[in-house]
Amino acid sequence: MRRKLAAGNWKMNGTSTSLAELEALAQAHPAPSVDVLICPPATLIDRAARILRESSVATGGQDCHSEMTGAHTGDISAEMLRDAGATAVILGHSERRADHGETDERVRAKARAALQAGLIAVICVGESLAEREAANTLDIIGGQLSGSIPDLVTGEQLVVAYEPIWAIGTGKVPEINEIGEVHEFIRARLERRFGAGVGRSVRLLYGGSVKPSNAAEIFAVPEVDGALVGGASLKASDFSPIITAL
Ligand code: 13P
Repeated sequence: MRRKLAAGNWKMNGTSTSLAELEALAQAHPAPSVDVLICPPATLIDRAARILRESSVATGGQDCHSEMTGAHTGDISAEMLRDAGATAVILGHSERRADHGETDERVRAKARAALQAGLIAVICVGESLAEREAANTLDIIGGQLSGSIPDLVTGEQLVVAYEPIWAIGTGKVPEINEIGEVHEFIRARLERRFGAGVGRSVRLLYGGSVKPSNAAEIFAVPEVDGALVGGASLKASDFSPIITAL
């Protein structure tokens, strides 16, 4: 049985004052029936993890390098994230693929490093609007899945987030049946590649304009095991009802 997961991606938002939101979130959910993960910017990971240490909310990173150490100015390794208190890392987010030219191959190398460091890898896939309009969604997602996920994974180490690029930060959400179609496709691909045991235990998240008002409807879709939430994860008062809806 897969445990549901509500994950928050703060992106490039948050300074020391935002840490109060984490305290509020932990207090609001002392014993959640689902897993809760917050991925603040790298500058806050250490402090966030300290604040959340005694709570049921986990801390994660938003990216890591594929090497553990070395001459990579400005980069952060998976070991460093782990050392700072993170237990998971988001990889291959469409914003990193766009802003930093991250390829599937690069995401896969990063995911290998994350797994080696003992982190859960939350690997993101998703099509652009042009790709959806050209009816290429499943081809694109299939290619991203085979390219970005390393060969050796367990179901517990891997989370896949389906985030249609055109739904991120836009208030637009695919039709419920479209979300279902993609999630079923991802599940089938994972089962085919890794076998039923691993394929069925990987958690699949939907991401893109998830809000308290649409969370319950999205969570009712088969094969949706939770959400990767951007804007609505910044405030405990917005993220909390999403956790409860799961
Ligand atoms: P929004 O929830 O702000 O649309 O962002 C989704 C996202 O990109 C999470 O990684």
